[in-house]
Amino acid sequence: MNSRQFQQHQRTRRQAILSGISLAALPWLGQQSKATAGFSHRFADNPFTLGVASGDPSSDGVVLWTRLAPDPLNGGGLPPENFPVRWELAEDDAFRSIVQSGTELATAALGHSVHVEVRGLQPDSWYWFRFHAGDAVSRTGRTRTMPAADALPERLKLCFASCQHYETGLFTAYEHMAAENPDLVLHLGDYIYEYEGKDNRVRKHSGPEITTLEHYRNRYAQYRMDPQLQTMHALCPWLVVWDDHEFDNNCAGAISEEKGVSSADFLLRRANAYQAYYENMPLRKPAIPAGPDMLLYRTLDYGRLARIEMLDTRQYRSDQPNGDGLKPLTGAALDPTTTMLGEQQERWLLQELSTSKSLWNVLGQQVMMGRVDRVPGADRKFSMDQWSGYDVARTRLLAALAERKIANPIVLTGDIHSNWVNDLLTDFDRPNDPAVATEFVCTSISSGGNGVQRAAGHALLMSENPFVKFQNSERGYVSCEVTPKEWLSRYQVVEYVDRPGAPLVTRSAWAVEAGRAGAKQA
Ligand code: FE
Ligand code: CA
Repeated sequence: MNSRQFQQHQRTRRQAILSGISLAALPWLGQQSKATAGFSHRFADNPFTLGVASGDPSSDGVVLWTRLAPDPLNGGGLPPENFPVRWELAEDDAFRSIVQSGTELATAALGHSVHVEVRGLQPDSWYWFRFHAGDAVSRTGRTRTMPAADALPERLKLCFASCQHYETGLFTAYEHMAAENPDLVLHLGDYIYEYEGKDNRVRKHSGPEITTLEHYRNRYAQYRMDPQLQTMHALCPWLVVWDDHEFDNNCAGAISEEKGVSSADFLLRRANAYQAYYENMPLRKPAIPAGPDMLLYRTLDYGRLARIEMLDTRQYRSDQPNGDGLKPLTGAALDPTTTMLGEQQERWLLQELSTSKSLWNVLGQQVMMGRVDRVPGADRKFSMDQWSGYDVARTRLLAALAERKIANPIVLTGDIHSNWVNDLLTDFDRPNDPAVATEFVCTSISSGGNGVQRAAGHALLMSENPFVKFQNSERGYVSCEVTPKEWLSRYQVVEYVDRPGAPLVTRSAWAVEAGRAGAKQA
């Protein structure tokens, strides 16, 4: 199927899903909606095995999520029918004061997922929610709205995380994150890993390398059954974006990492991956995928304190230059036509930044922006999968932040299973220039297994990259406290993930003063 045909599917499929008409004729769907079960349906097994979640909050609403899956690792376990699910949203956790309720269909076409877009709520307020299906009741989730557009809140507490390979470690970090009680969680990608199950690991993926829609659904289900992850989703709204492993390692646009995979087959697999992603995440309707396309980049405002742009650096990028891997900045890495965001997203981003009235302007994205030289000595090599492989696009973005005087740009990054604090420069060969933005890179929740404070070559890495202020290779997440005066990032780590119970250690803390880019140790 060529890309024009894909685009036709895109429109038909989105309209079909939105209007609830029969989806049977659409070839993208593995399952067809046949009928709607009654309210009185009795589930033999608990259909709420995957818990609840909320996400993409605005000042007057939020998305409430659940998915019915009485047999979560085997396609969910429900017949290809639609099931009505009642939802309730209250001002208290005992549901004495219910402010809104309604019914939403869990459709077979969308893996019996439920996405309720609640509107008309009070700004800056906490709410509790739950679902009913047949005689079953979900656990209770807590969520919140964002402050009003013109409000200047005193404080935002957000945590960000990425990379949670299920097999290589436990999600202990989420237990500590939950205890911090954040307003918002940003997940910057690698929520699942696509690999087949391997023995002799901390725990094992169920099934083969995931390629079909059912594979992807089962994999999300396995991750969502993790009690620590599930609890964190039930505590506050999340803003999620994918990286590569939600689909396929180091994917770029429509090009597979593996040679010999045709672009059509690869896009079919991408359609499966994206559909399962939508089904399993608390996302709004514009994110409903259309075949292999899904709109994931978007803006969230926390009053006038922070504007957060969630970016998609995978779907629209050109192929990694110079054959990927660590390479010098030569040839294709300097090609001005290569793109990380795609033309449309880049234009959108500059528009959103230029019209922002916020004190802090935050990019939630996937791959490292700092130009880190990864080899010792005079030889210089950079990761072609990161922004360094797209050097002209990086410089264009950083220069635009400076030229347009965007207030207090902060870049939040995931992907590389290690912690970094980087001052971002328009010219990394002039390390004494003032920084134009500050980058905080979070390590993995579990990917890579037990970490170390300093990996081999740490001292050399620091001396060759003077804009890197901090680097660490333990597991954990980053906890941020944002006020009108200061951005504070705490690097929260756990010393092991191969067994439960690791205590939380704040390894380092870094502050950015409003009005002056660049991190200082706090
Ligand atoms: Fe990862
Ligand atoms: Ca070097």
